[in-house]
Amino acid sequence: MLHAKGSLLTIDVSDRSTSTTDIGDALSQFIGGRGIATKLAHDRIPFNADPLGPKNRAYISAGPLQQSQMSFTGRMNMTGLSPLTNGLLSTNAGGYLSRNFVGTGYSVVEIIGASDELVAIHISDEGVEFEEVPDLAQATVPEVTDAMNERHELESENLVTIGPAGENLVRFACPITYDSRAFGRGGLGAVLGSKNVKTISFNGDSEPPLGIDEDIQSELHREAATTDDMMKRQGTTAGTEFINDTFSLPTRYFSEQSFEHVEDIGGNAVEEKKYKKEACSVCAFACKLPTKDEDRDLTTEGPEFETVFSFGSNCGIGDVVDVMQSNELCDHYGMDTISCGNSVAAYLEAHDDFGNAERVHELVENIAYRRDEGDLLAEGVNRFHDELEVDNFTVKGMEFAAHDGRAIHGQGLSYAVANRGADHMYSTMLGLEYNGEINPEGTAGKAETLIEQENHHAIRDSGIFCAFSGDYFTEKQKETIFEADYDELLTVGSRVIELERHFNNQRGMDAEEDRLPYDLPDLQESIQEYYELRGWNDDGTVPESNVDGFATADD
Ligand code: SF4
Repeated sequence: MLHAKGSLLTIDVSDRSTSTTDIGDALSQFIGGRGIATKLAHDRIPFNADPLGPKNRAYISAGPLQQSQMSFTGRMNMTGLSPLTNGLLSTNAGGYLSRNFVGTGYSVVEIIGASDELVAIHISDEGVEFEEVPDLAQATVPEVTDAMNERHELESENLVTIGPAGENLVRFACPITYDSRAFGRGGLGAVLGSKNVKTISFNGDSEPPLGIDEDIQSELHREAATTDDMMKRQGTTAGTEFINDTFSLPTRYFSEQSFEHVEDIGGNAVEEKKYKKEACSVCAFACKLPTKDEDRDLTTEGPEFETVFSFGSNCGIGDVVDVMQSNELCDHYGMDTISCGNSVAAYLEAHDDFGNAERVHELVENIAYRRDEGDLLAEGVNRFHDELEVDNFTVKGMEFAAHDGRAIHGQGLSYAVANRGADHMYSTMLGLEYNGEINPEGTAGKAETLIEQENHHAIRDSGIFCAFSGDYFTEKQKETIFEADYDELLTVGSRVIELERHFNNQRGMDAEEDRLPYDLPDLQESIQEYYELRGWNDDGTVPESNVDGFATADD
């Protein structure tokens, strides 16, 4: 089976020591990306670690496809113990980092310990250097990029950086690469912040040699370049109006499921603000959304669909430029737009202030610096909902993505059981329910499809290929590229899900956490069916025998 090559680089920022470990055997079982990082995190992070303590570890990893010239592969993975969900979590970003990362020659970088001083870490194929950067305390992401460019001629595509939100331990702070591409969900920016790591640079030309089928690389590249897919014009916002029509666009903090001003924030409105094409490395699909508003002198990238929801409909904001501004603030401060937007929306609900864009922007800034009410909101909805007396629209502490499980019930089931919480990329039942392949009504009989989706997506994030390659990268091509039967690939994916769940079980998470804040038809029966098909216990825990052979943790 094709897998990433290169050793594990461990960086202990407490004493600034480094070491390398041969992980070839584990890579052959887990491919790379999310798979290998989950395996290492499971085995090396103590089960009782504090997500914001020195015993937590942050993993940055690529898969084998980051060495190809194939479209849809400009992605990178990060894994760690999440300060938002309190469980093991992986998150994925695009941009141009991946080729610089593999050039260092490592397959995984592990950051451990905690530094006394704020540091930049420079990783290249010639070694690791530490640079104390106290002058960059509370700097925004672009300010850090400028400083690194001036001092070392590094570009945004070399860097993974946290903004003030990460330093201030906002629970949904995220690392950012290429100034706008977020390792979005779960707060791993706060994990880097807790370690006093402001930025990490990657540089080099020492990719280990990998043979990847060249015909398929060319086929996919050609398809990505020539398709007239609507996403190439409007990115993820292309479906906004359709999603609104299916009552899947949560509005005014989930009190409604469609928004009367959708046309002012949806795909057409975003496309009107788009001023050029943009992509991730080697991707001819180029679905990104650089946007500009001359009147407000605002240039940003996005909003993506999820931000249109979180800072648009869910905050009652019907002006795309206001949403662009929220997006830009989150990128600068280093925060997940979904969790941040939902936290702001919850505040607006508590204060009956929907539609107040000025207040929204002020709250975003206050969250990043933990000022005033921002200090409470920085904890995330799960931790502050009681104090503000609002409903708790989270699963496992993670704020919901847009696609409303109350309208597409299989997606609701997915939110309930996902190890990561209420996120839409863990499985994409939503796609099957929107296009009518399965009836959106009810959860009965959907567990098997959900499991296949979760397993596939774990492979996707390990390979790593982009979620938007779905219509182009066929099952057969995957078998050829990865040199494995599709079922074998799904088995690798299921190991990743099992290890995440097993780790979370050791932290006390079980069926109690597989809950939604609303009812769905047959939900409990479907959750039990999901456990049974996975071979798990009735209480949502993984039997030890399931992880025997591919997990080695002993604490
Ligand atoms: S499809 Fe879009 S998000 Fe995916 S790699 Fe290509 S440009 Fe990046």
